[in-house]
Amino acid sequence: MANIIKLLPDHVANQIAAGEVVQRPASVVKELLENAIDAGATSIKLIIKDAGKTLIQIIDNGKGMSETDARMSFERHATSKITSADDLFNLSTKGFRGEALASIAAVAHVELKTRIHKNEVGTRIEIEGSKIITQEPCATPVGTSLAVKNLFFNIPARRNFLKSNNVELRHIIDEFQRVALAHSQIVFAMFHNDGEVFQLPAGNLKQRIVGIFGGKTNEKLVPVAEETDIVTIQGFVVKPEFSKKTRGEQFFFVNDRFIKNAYLNHAVSAAFEGLLPDKTRASYFLYLTVDPSTIDINIHPTKTEIKFDDEHSLYAILRSTIKHSLGQFNIAPVLDFDRDANLDTPYAYKDKYVHTPKVEVDRTFNPFETVPPPKKGATMPSYTKQNVEGWEQLYEGLKTPPSDGTSNVTYESDEVTGNLFQKDTEYAFAKAESSTYQLNNKYIISTIKSGMVIIDQHRAHQRILYEELLRNITVKESVSQQLLFPLVLNYNSSELALLVQLKEGLENTGFVFGKVANETLEITGIPTSLPESEVPIVIEQLLSDLENEVPDTGFSQTDTLAKSMAKSMAVKAGETLDGSSREHLVNSLFACKEPSVSPDNRTTFITMSGEELDRKFK
Ligand code: ADP
Ligand code: MG
Repeated sequence: MANIIKLLPDHVANQIAAGEVVQRPASVVKELLENAIDAGATSIKLIIKDAGKTLIQIIDNGKGMSETDARMSFERHATSKITSADDLFNLSTKGFRGEALASIAAVAHVELKTRIHKNEVGTRIEIEGSKIITQEPCATPVGTSLAVKNLFFNIPARRNFLKSNNVELRHIIDEFQRVALAHSQIVFAMFHNDGEVFQLPAGNLKQRIVGIFGGKTNEKLVPVAEETDIVTIQGFVVKPEFSKKTRGEQFFFVNDRFIKNAYLNHAVSAAFEGLLPDKTRASYFLYLTVDPSTIDINIHPTKTEIKFDDEHSLYAILRSTIKHSLGQFNIAPVLDFDRDANLDTPYAYKDKYVHTPKVEVDRTFNPFETVPPPKKGATMPSYTKQNVEGWEQLYEGLKTPPSDGTSNVTYESDEVTGNLFQKDTEYAFAKAESSTYQLNNKYIISTIKSGMVIIDQHRAHQRILYEELLRNITVKESVSQQLLFPLVLNYNSSELALLVQLKEGLENTGFVFGKVANETLEITGIPTSLPESEVPIVIEQLLSDLENEVPDTGFSQTDTLAKSMAKSMAVKAGETLDGSSREHLVNSLFACKEPSVSPDNRTTFITMSGEELDRKFK
């Protein structure tokens, strides 16, 4: 039999390697930023078009490459950074696998322009899918410019697998921030579709954090510093009261490299124990310096995970260092022997208003009434008209009709009791078709021809709002409520970049935007169905959903927007709904195109037929 094993051609091997190194535009950004840093650049500019799907370009003022090196840099396992396996244990550079450029060139159109200081002309190389198209001398400044166009042009499956522009941009911004935070002495700039996203001058660590996360960050930071034999810790933690629910900023750097490490994260959380408001997560920027021979950073292809020789000591040191900082800056209650420790309140409760328990008696409460009077605080729109029209029906069979049909109907119990125990109906309230009940402030119970229906109020309302929002966004016919005083909200540049992307969709739901500048977003109009006080919550939720968006399998930005807004605007479990709100909810739900599931595909209602009930009573 003939031999069947053969070596893969280079371009195939490169494409396979690319699968590991280049998962998405953000991976390219990471590799190129790291190369620029390794080249000793002091100024790095990142230019992105269409969330990196059209263009990713990095321009640095580093040492550049000679003509031969420029050509070599695209070969697999071509690296200037290690020469023997031993070097792996003493890495001071970011790259070492010599795979990034080869992989990127295998799956994109790449244009490299580079020049070293001692040469007057530079080199320009064009590569498409590993094939060199052009190599020629060119005029270019000292340093390197690498433009990566049409990523995955030759692997449609990969290209289709990319998520929406928001998600890909979010990943790029994440990588950019991680690198920029690790190198505050380097000038960074980032542009997306010609708009400036970041402009970061060289500075100290605190200035860099503030440059990225906005001016308001300054007062939120508590410094952390510790030096021991096995680790030096520097950086900042964010004061507990500024911790975030969904989007904590958590950054660990080890020897200037961003890493993720659940164990160390746990150490920080442990230091914050008892200080964080409910359901929030600590935010931190922590820089660990350790002897490179005590860590292994090669356990993951994209190198964000790391293994430490002595994790347990590191954990203990980290935890006590942060605890100490929090205590020193009066964040945590310190032990004070002159005071009765029993009087100490946990931090989260410290500034809270103390309520004396009050007993409230609702004198109009009638356990048997069919339609209770509207309760205060219900947020559903009330459609009293329907209510009034149907009132006769509700009380059909009663001996004494109300003398005054317009006033809210509260009867003395005997009369209504008569209703419940009518002999001639199978289901007492089946006749009064519109009657609804609320159970545990969470479920709405109503009758249908065949029996009864139990509706999850939060999910049902989400479905209703979702369809309404989708309609508004696509038909562009929403109504907006003009604000007397524009709302001015603070967001950092990456959040603003995301919101600007979504501007059109948001405007179609009824938002009107004023100036976008300098970490602030001015809102001059809002959707009519949205109370002004909830605007920041809705936007916060939206930003968080955009980050965690599901793969873009035919779902649009519009869909995410509608889902997210529906989620934050919908009535929650625990809210009391008055009769007309309940009815409106039931009617609107069944007028929906897909009433049976919430936008995230969860059951909105269950039914129980008369027969099922009969069986239960056997
Ligand atoms: P690695 O970074 O692991 O060495 P890469 O494929 O990323 O592998 O890069 C290959 C080589 O090309 C690098 O070792 C370096 O010598 C050179 N190189 C890449 N980018 C730059 C740059 N921006 N400036 C100067 N040299 C570069
Ligand atoms: Mg590299």
